[in-house]
Amino acid sequence: MKNYNEIIEEIIEIGQRLGRKNYTPGYSGNISARFGKNIIITTSGSSNGFLTKEDFVETNFEGKAINSNKKPSSEKLLHIEFYKKRPDINYIIHVHPAGLSAFASSGKDLMSPIMAENVFYFGGIPLAEYGLPSSTDLVNNTAKYFADYDAILMANHGFIIGSKTLEDAYQKLEIAEEYAKTVIYTNVLGGAKILTNSEAEAILSLR
Ligand SMILES: [Zn+2]
Repeated sequence: MKNYNEIIEEIIEIGQRLGRKNYTPGYSGNISARFGKNIIITTSGSSNGFLTKEDFVETNFEGKAINSNKKPSSEKLLHIEFYKKRPDINYIIHVHPAGLSAFASSGKDLMSPIMAENVFYFGGIPLAEYGLPSSTDLVNNTAKYFADYDAILMANHGFIIGSKTLEDAYQKLEIAEEYAKTVIYTNVLGGAKILTNSEAEAILSLR
């Protein structure tokens, strides 16, 4: 298991990459890592693109800070629920990038098979029903999808992705966000040509 400093160093580096891509504007979004029986999560009000070692707090699975008076991200319980439901997931990124957030805010999911690469990586990206940020509703509405999906749109809010490694979560976020923009561009060109079920199944069989 990586130690505390190793984990926060990798989150700081990924945060900077998210910032350069403008996937995590301003104070939005939060990043966490599983840390034994606890988690390490960015603090409330921190900016993912400009994280320092002071912008992290360890909490238990009730969301209570361990040996710290720092305030964890208000979405801590959303992250914790994802870790509880998915023992295979060690890192979670929650952000509001423009393309994915446009889908989430239009009430549209990304379940249609449009681009081969995205069918391969995600199958589809579902849309969880709206819940007030930091509320139990948000956790419950989003958690419904954790068993079957690693990446989920959150209605009128943003996007969440979990993975075994932080690098993989970042790479898939990048794929998902650029995909969302591509689908928006297809609408300018008259709409996407949707793959057939058998074409989509053939892609999934490449996994
Ligand atoms: Zn958010």
